[in-house]
Amino acid sequence: MAAKMLRFVTVAQDTPEKRAPQTRRRDFDEIYAEYRPQHAAEQAGRCSQCGVPFCQIHCPLSNNIPDWLMLTAEGRLEEAYEVSSATNNMPEVCGRICPQDRLCEGNCVIESAGHGTVTIGSIEKFVTDTAWERGWVKPIRPPLEREQSVGIIGAGPAGLAAAEQLRRKGYRIHVYDRYDRVGGLLVYGIPNFKLEKPIVARRAKWLAEGGITFHLNIEIGRDVTLAELRRRHDAVLIATGVYKARDMQAPGSGLGGIVPAMTYLTASNRKGLGDKVPEFDSGKLDAEGKHVVVIGGGDTAMDCVRTAVRQGAKSVKCLYRRDRENMPGSMREVKHAEEEGVEFVWLSAPEAFDGQAKISTVVAHRMRLGARDATGRGAPVKEEDSAFRLPADLVIKALGFDPEALPVLFQAPELAITDCGTVKVNHRTLMSNLDGVFAAGDIVRGASLVVWAIKDGRDAAASIDRYIQTRIATAGISAVAAE
Ligand SMILES: Cc1cc2nc3c(=O)[nH]c(=O)nc-3n(C[C@H](O)[C@H](O)[C@H](O)COP(=O)(O)OP(=O)(O)OC[C@H]3O[C@@H](n4cnc5c(N)ncnc54)[C@H](O)[C@@H]3O)c2cc1C
Ligand code: SF4
Repeated sequence: MAAKMLRFVTVAQDTPEKRAPQTRRRDFDEIYAEYRPQHAAEQAGRCSQCGVPFCQIHCPLSNNIPDWLMLTAEGRLEEAYEVSSATNNMPEVCGRICPQDRLCEGNCVIESAGHGTVTIGSIEKFVTDTAWERGWVKPIRPPLEREQSVGIIGAGPAGLAAAEQLRRKGYRIHVYDRYDRVGGLLVYGIPNFKLEKPIVARRAKWLAEGGITFHLNIEIGRDVTLAELRRRHDAVLIATGVYKARDMQAPGSGLGGIVPAMTYLTASNRKGLGDKVPEFDSGKLDAEGKHVVVIGGGDTAMDCVRTAVRQGAKSVKCLYRRDRENMPGSMREVKHAEEEGVEFVWLSAPEAFDGQAKISTVVAHRMRLGARDATGRGAPVKEEDSAFRLPADLVIKALGFDPEALPVLFQAPELAITDCGTVKVNHRTLMSNLDGVFAAGDIVRGASLVVWAIKDGRDAAASIDRYIQTRIATAGISAVAAE
């Protein structure tokens, strides 16, 4: 098997944006334009340095937020960057796409006092972007080179965070990914208007320059087995994310124009990256001039509706079976989508799709919330005789993701998985039931967040280091004993 060459992301143009005239989009330029040094310092200076840092407690990486806010307020940006990057492998990414309203900012004491949160994420982004611009992001130079190697399956945030941490300790790192670019969902899931692709490419290039070897277009299971990787490396990390789209069965669900969210978002991201995307160019995956209905209420659904707005859809509706309060997606995202002209059809679910070969109408019915279900939210119950119709030329299903069947895919039936299909690990060590095989990120947690994937990647790296060092020490002891 010949390893394919690493291909960095190059951006020919932004995600195709043919802005619908009636909408108001919130893009990066608008949200962050005000983040000049003075503004960042003013915002950071609003931090009350409260005794109990609730922001830090609610950041999955336990970022030392109060300290880097103070340093930013004092204009000591390089030191602020050093503190913030000490616990986070991609602060410029988290600053952009963490749901801060549910994490650090949502627990800011100033916010709780009704004065508006300190804009932690924007400052984190500003400080790290400044660090890149001014050359403060130093190359990875391990103090020693080790003989041992680690194979990492998946170049998403979990795999990349682990790769960096282990490379810093001098291990030889080989990252395998079935995609043609490094970044996982950072590249092909999350839209460019939330996370610009050159930001991810810059990280990938820096990691490669630090000595990490990427093997792209390599699918573990198809091109190499897990057993082969275990032979090649001293430890293996599974960081493959979750990609099996949940589906729904209803009359007409096989009609043309009904597509899964990842198919739609990947096409849009690839187009923005300058790739040839025949299904976009033919109009099949382009929302321009169409009535679009997105089914689902999570962050992926929000990304779909906001992408459709940018592609110039005639109308964009989001159909969700619960109400606003019980929606899984970030409220900030819902607000942005509403500002951009998206219509939310709450307490509604599709029951059939009508059309001649292609979708033309979604038949939906009203729901009400009944007794609480396992998620703690009211279970949606169908209202009888409440059917209504929505015109639709493009229907996007954003119903969530499950893990693929890894033991089958990897040709490794001995790999233990949970009832949900995630890899079963010892939660202290993140090691699976197979000696030296670890797992991290969405493939352990189920669909989650980038910041949690980074946290898991870091934890797995520490555990892999301990595992390899223990084996070396034990082998040394046995060798001495044998003499
Ligand atoms: C549309 C969308 C929008 C999102 N928006 C946000 C957001 O705004 N903020 C946020 O925090 N989170 C967001 N998330 C969630 C976030 O992207 C994930 O939680 C995170 O990327 C998980 O990281 P990971 O490294 O575990 O997996 P992934 O990022 O999925 O990376 C897994 C990698 O493994 C590779 N792989 C899989 N199987 C194989 C195999 N057999 N062989 C080789 N390679 C393989 C894949 O190609 C991929 O590159 C979003 C998710 C989606 C789908
Ligand atoms: S990593 Fe996310 S949660 Fe933590 S400080 Fe940054 S934006 Fe907030």
